[in-house]
Amino acid sequence: MIHAIDCKTCRAWLHGYLDNELETNAAAEVAEHLHHCAECAGEYADARRLVAQLKAHLPYHQAPAGLARRLRASIEAPASPPAGLLQRWLGPGGRRWLAPGFSTLALTLSLVLYLAAPSAERPWLDEAVSSHVRSLMVDHLNDVVSSDRHTVKPWFTGKLDFAPPVFDFSQQGYVLLGGRLDYLQQQSTAALTYGHGRHLINLFILPTADADAAAQNLSLRGYNLVAWRRNHLRFILVSDLEQGELAALGQLIQKDL
Ligand SMILES: [Zn+2]
Repeated sequence: MIHAIDCKTCRAWLHGYLDNELETNAAAEVAEHLHHCAECAGEYADARRLVAQLKAHLPYHQAPAGLARRLRASIEAPASPPAGLLQRWLGPGGRRWLAPGFSTLALTLSLVLYLAAPSAERPWLDEAVSSHVRSLMVDHLNDVVSSDRHTVKPWFTGKLDFAPPVFDFSQQGYVLLGGRLDYLQQQSTAALTYGHGRHLINLFILPTADADAAAQNLSLRGYNLVAWRRNHLRFILVSDLEQGELAALGQLIQKDL
């Protein structure tokens, strides 16, 4: 008989479930939970999308002809100082796993970098999506309604302990609609709203102590996001707008910073 697992257990097992690594009972419990829990089901859908995107978009490069031979030669060459040193350190036979070990390590590192970066940002991204959805649902998109950045920018003065930059890209088709005060991770946040066609876009801006970070494009719970950090500000764009068009707005803003 299947007993119910809670969300925490479900999340912990989700990736094993995704990779078909769970034993039958555990897999059945996860499947049962996903059937009843929309939040975990959403998480599962996100993870599946990420895997699909990784498979579809990770670049595959054909190694130049002779690279394997040259690598092997450089590792086996007794005169090569790093290999010689490693070999001495590893002892006899060590070099046998050095070449495959190196490539596996490089692959693991690149995957970890790709996957780890978004998850550190995850709490902000999650809340940004929730706030985006809320702003559309409860008819609270803007506290100040204006397409004039010179009206919107001073409106934030005195309401926030930082001065959010306000951008106008109506020429490029991204029309400023207004702004409102918001909170992400209990931090006061400026939310600027833009319209593009019939799509609404929220741009969240809040201070951060973290170092600058290049823009990341991702999708979460059915929404597209572009997130980056610059000059001790965190920027998060959220919309149902197509990812390429949202990324284009992200690039316009970054050029203007
Ligand atoms: Zn759940």
